[in-house]
Amino acid sequence: MIVLKSSAELEAMRRSGMVVAETIHALCKNAKVGIATSELNEIAGETIRSFGAESAFLGYRASGTKRGFPGIVCISINEEIVHGIPGERRLEDGDLVSFDVGVRLDGFCGDAAASMIVGEAPEGTKRLLDVTLLALHNGIEQAVAGSRIKDIGRAVQLTAESAGFGVVRDLVGHGIGRNLHEDPQVPNFVSKGYSPKIMPGMTIAIEPMITMGDWHVEELDDEWTIVTRDSSISAHFEHTVAVTEDGPRILTLRENEREGFDLD
Ligand code: MG
Repeated sequence: MIVLKSSAELEAMRRSGMVVAETIHALCKNAKVGIATSELNEIAGETIRSFGAESAFLGYRASGTKRGFPGIVCISINEEIVHGIPGERRLEDGDLVSFDVGVRLDGFCGDAAASMIVGEAPEGTKRLLDVTLLALHNGIEQAVAGSRIKDIGRAVQLTAESAGFGVVRDLVGHGIGRNLHEDPQVPNFVSKGYSPKIMPGMTIAIEPMITMGDWHVEELDDEWTIVTRDSSISAHFEHTVAVTEDGPRILTLRENEREGFDLD
């Protein structure tokens, strides 16, 4: 069941989304060569708490068999796509690091992710980053009333595959609101069959996960970290987006940030 949000609820989600954006900003600012991912996790925790919010990821259980997620945020490096657990690993020159942040504030969730290169990386890595961000942008553009959820996936898939990159299929975007994960699922690719109509009041997390190689994935023994099966590098960008009468509204931007898609 898709839960539509009132304008008051959208404002609450915007407040939550702002905390997400500030946390990602703090993480990117501090992501330097030599810092441990556990230290970045602490920085995220301090930022989230400073707004009176809490992590929506810490202790999260995707299914009954899994242990709760042990980090405040997810930090995934290179071939790790998503759900990386912060720990002793230190960032190295040329790493592509992805931060995924989910928070809950006043009962509403926000969820966003951003990837960046630490230090210097080859041209191909930079291109992966640019194309993944562009795929998110193109997906968000499709989040308009009257279209279907699969139009978002089509835009993401076309952007990534026409650049020669792979689109992860085992993980998808999602509705979001009082719960971190709500209906509908928001795939980054087109599949056959029914796809829900997009309506004003819908709030969805659009999150392309793009690989430099093949799209197949594996889960590590830590029961969380998802990596590419062929060990190719991957990137991940995500925004929580509200569908309004005036088009898509990105909820996970900082207060005066207008777009968030500046590729320069
Ligand atoms: Mg998400």
